Amino acid sequence: MAQVVHFGHQVWANYHKTAACNVKSRVELANVEQMNGRAHLKGVAETVLALLKEAKQYQIPVRPIGAGWSPSPINVVEDGWLVETLRLNRTFKLSAQNLHQDCDIAAEALLLVQAGATVDEVYESAEEIGRSLRTGGASNGQSFAGACATGTHGSVWQAGGIQDHVRAVQLVTPERILWIEPKQGVLSDDFIAQTGSEIIRSDRIFAAAQLHVGAMGFVTAMLIETDPIFMVQNIQKAVKIKREHIDWLCRGEFRKFSCEFGLDEEPYFQQLILNPFDPFDKKSLLRFLYKRPFDASIAPPLPGEMGAGYDALTLLGKAMAESDFFQAEILQLAMEQAYPNNRDVDDPPAIATWGHTTEEHSPIASLFNGSVTMDRRNLSEAFDLIIDSFRSGGGGTVVTLRFIRRAQGLLAPARWPDNVVIDFDGPNVESSHSGYKKVVEALDDAGIAFTRHWGKTNNLDERRVKRDYEQNFADWKWAQAQVMPDPADRRVFANDELVKLGLI
Ligand SMILES: Cc1cc2nc3c(=O)[nH]c(=O)nc-3n(C[C@H](O)[C@H](O)[C@H](O)COP(=O)(O)OP(=O)(O)OC[C@H]3O[C@@H](n4cnc5c(N)ncnc54)[C@H](O)[C@@H]3O)c2cc1C
Repeated sequence: MAQVVHFGHQVWANYHKTAACNVKSRVELANVEQMNGRAHLKGVAETVLALLKEAKQYQIPVRPIGAGWSPSPINVVEDGWLVETLRLNRTFKLSAQNLHQDCDIAAEALLLVQAGATVDEVYESAEEIGRSLRTGGASNGQSFAGACATGTHGSVWQAGGIQDHVRAVQLVTPERILWIEPKQGVLSDDFIAQTGSEIIRSDRIFAAAQLHVGAMGFVTAMLIETDPIFMVQNIQKAVKIKREHIDWLCRGEFRKFSCEFGLDEEPYFQQLILNPFDPFDKKSLLRFLYKRPFDASIAPPLPGEMGAGYDALTLLGKAMAESDFFQAEILQLAMEQAYPNNRDVDDPPAIATWGHTTEEHSPIASLFNGSVTMDRRNLSEAFDLIIDSFRSGGGGTVVTLRFIRRAQGLLAPARWPDNVVIDFDGPNVESSHSGYKKVVEALDDAGIAFTRHWGKTNNLDERRVKRDYEQNFADWKWAQAQVMPDPADRRVFANDELVKLGLI
């Protein structure tokens, strides 16, 4: 079982203070010591089942949350129970006898992760056993279930989203405790039975549960596949780029781009932050990470030498919002002041494990985050439209370019074989919102297909979600109905945003 603490009625706001709600009760779940991992998972799932049954009986909407880091209002619920999971944060190793006979993944690559373990905690557990995550987003304070819920991603161009690590999901509805795996089994029936779960082995239902947007039930645990531990070398600098470099990136010429500004080798990760008001006369902020073999004798450098912070951006972004007149200059100041431009090609190398590549984040001000994801081959055309849109009076955000492969999960925004994600980050003020809307309109007018991040400001509705995801949306709804056939079960997970998106 898990400990359940009701803190009662309160006003709750998400991390970025972009959404708030009056909750009937803020509820915290916490682990209680159990004999082993299976007993632990069973106890927690049974506690959640009882909570959801009660909620269904009294028609109280329930919203499970992780870190509350999503700026979109998917993590708020009016007059319901907001259930915090961050203290359900244990991870467990597996052994070969726990695996299904058809499983082709080695036991040492697998880690059982409770829903509320933060990405950072999962990195640490993986490193302790000589393993690593393949990719992740920035700052690593998200819960693993919450990060997977929205398809959190970074800029590893050969990987998709964080949900791509997931090989099985333990999901609780008001009526059932389920263990969802692909058709090819991963864990043995015996092991799963000891977690108190009913088995579903289906590729479609699993693909729906990998990226669930918080609308498929309450995730209590996940089984994830890790990579052998590795390190990365960081190059981070402010440089002027030219328009032709955007074309290189559009064509996937990452090595050529790296050779121009970083090392003459294929980067594992690459990211550009630029000033959309003046992208070529002002400096852009580049970051490359190159894969290196693990070497235990290398002491990790200070976090600032491996990662970028958002905080100064937030502060200066606020100043910028007050003053449209100097927008481009203040934006540039904010970018360069916030960025540790401290690792060039000739500097002593900064090398650390993948888990050391981002800094912890603390909220300083109300932020705006929006993004669009599209086929990387449309980058050049989209880039010109975006710059035109900013120059003709829109926006108050910086623009970041990140690159990822097609991500797993039916509702994964990264749906093209190779994707560029264009992020818009700035102060949470009207100019940021209106600038983002203008970009979205310009892309639509140009007929460029794109999707949006579930966890960021996105202005989506059901009509648009259906259009963006086509058959995958219908398949996701089918899978949700398999897991929760009774509409009353689905209603337990309703909030205004998920209803608007057509997901409940
Ligand atoms: C500082 C910062 C940096 C960020 N960097 C990136 C980045 O680099 N890349 C990127 O893609 N995104 C990024 N984001 C966005 C963030 O990764 C996502 O919004 C992520 O979903 C937040 O995780 P969370 O644990 O806070 O989830 P929450 O915001 O708490 O929840 C997200 C959704 O998941 C649901 N949920 C949470 N836990 C469960 C559960 N156990 N069962 C069922 N549903 C659940 C919630 O109800 C909600 O619908 C960043 C956000 C911040 C604040």
